[in-house]
Amino acid sequence: MEGIFTGGCQCGAVRFRAEKLGRPSICHCRMCQKAFGGFFGALVTADQAHLQWTRSQPTLFRSSKKVHRGFCPRCGTPLTYHHPGGVEIAIGAFDQAYLIEPEVQVNHHLRLPWIDHLFEKPAVAQSLDEAEMISFQHPDHDTAQWPPEDEQ
Ligand SMILES: [Zn+2]
Ligand SMILES: [Zn+2]
Repeated sequence: MEGIFTGGCQCGAVRFRAEKLGRPSICHCRMCQKAFGGFFGALVTADQAHLQWTRSQPTLFRSSKKVHRGFCPRCGTPLTYHHPGGVEIAIGAFDQAYLIEPEVQVNHHLRLPWIDHLFEKPAVAQSLDEAEMISFQHPDHDTAQWPPEDEQ
């Protein structure tokens, strides 16, 4: 996929811009579950020559001999997976994550035993009062300054 794909962490301290993406995937391995604090990791390969960190950089944790995982040191959002062959970016961190649909599953045999039934669960209405909610999450687009001056 070519285009301009921006994104970053939840607090906005780390932002990136990628112009060439490869194959989007989800990985069921235990390390991805831990690193994402989720049921699987969702990552898309990125061409490093076309990847820029436009605000700060992720902090790296060496999760195994050949792999580092990047995250925002301020809010903890998982952002990257670095391996000898290149880098992958967390799909959920993109401003337009909805454009990046996973094409394959990796480590399928390690998936959580109930994962195949996840979306058969009933959807229940959540009483989220949108008027009451004041979000401090960075918006889904680049900003000249964040947080806004009057809220610092
Ligand atoms: Zn952050
Ligand atoms: Zn994995």
